Amino acid sequence: MTQPEGRCVLAVDVGGTTIKGAVVGDDGRFRHSLTVPSRADDDPVKAVRSLCLQLRDDALALGATPAAIGVVTPGLVDEVYGVVRYAANIRFRDVPLRALIGDDLGLPVAVGHDARAAGVAEAVAGAASGLDNFLLLPLGTGIAAAVVVHGAPVPGATGSAGEVGHMPVYPGGEPCSCGQRGCLEVYASAGGLARRYARLGGTPGLDSRGIADAVATDRVARAVWDDATQALGTALATLTLTLDPARIVLGGGLADAGALFFDPVRDALRAALAWRTPPPVLRSAFGAQAAQVGAAAMARREAGLPVPDGWGAPELVPPVA
Ligand SMILES: [Zn+2]
Repeated sequence: MTQPEGRCVLAVDVGGTTIKGAVVGDDGRFRHSLTVPSRADDDPVKAVRSLCLQLRDDALALGATPAAIGVVTPGLVDEVYGVVRYAANIRFRDVPLRALIGDDLGLPVAVGHDARAAGVAEAVAGAASGLDNFLLLPLGTGIAAAVVVHGAPVPGATGSAGEVGHMPVYPGGEPCSCGQRGCLEVYASAGGLARRYARLGGTPGLDSRGIADAVATDRVARAVWDDATQALGTALATLTLTLDPARIVLGGGLADAGALFFDPVRDALRAALAWRTPPPVLRSAFGAQAAQVGAAAMARREAGLPVPDGWGAPELVPPVA
């Protein structure tokens, strides 16, 4: 049995732009990180497998023995069988990730959904510490929620619970990439905000951060910002009425805007609820690293290792470069 000081887990977050890997020590500290572009290989599955092998070798070179690996992806993920059924952003379809990586590395493999894994991280040591019922919405390119009920992220009947980005908030509204109209993520994802801003005549090339900075002085920025926070407040009201979460945690670039973002979202949520008080709406503690910390926690559970409250706290995780 490996002693705790020499033991680690490997954590991999497969995204549309980058694949991020980390060697995470027994204390939850990131000992080593590795990032490669998702398009580094024509074969996206091969790119993930190569990174996992590299990560294992890096861990061994550090004198750390991996006990398991956790790999999380977007899309429809069957966590029981360890298969990514469909993920358009990373070009995966029916990929038996657990079997492939298990054969490559000879380690136990946990396969999970990135947003649900982020929910695990927030529950263990983040903005939802100690809570059994909460929602986490990372507002990135799209919007998928971790719906945590009785302490577990809910996968749903087909592994597609939490796809709240396609919740209609403005029926008959602007078209979405999914084929519907008026979806939440058209208005309130970082990607959607930037697209709307450009389309409505804003300064070319501005991303969601730039739009946040321009809200006070730029009429178009103000308008798309107001639409985004109103759309999100409306969606959160529906989710609150359905699930009665103890807390709602928001992550992603828009949440970095602080009160400029949270105040109108909280106002819109309160205004949409007639008879009940809204749950507190807080910012994610881990930001862009949440899914990776969650993948590490899932790997530990897969290896039969404990994940105590506070494990992998944000101060142990290096900021995104
Ligand atoms: Zn949609």
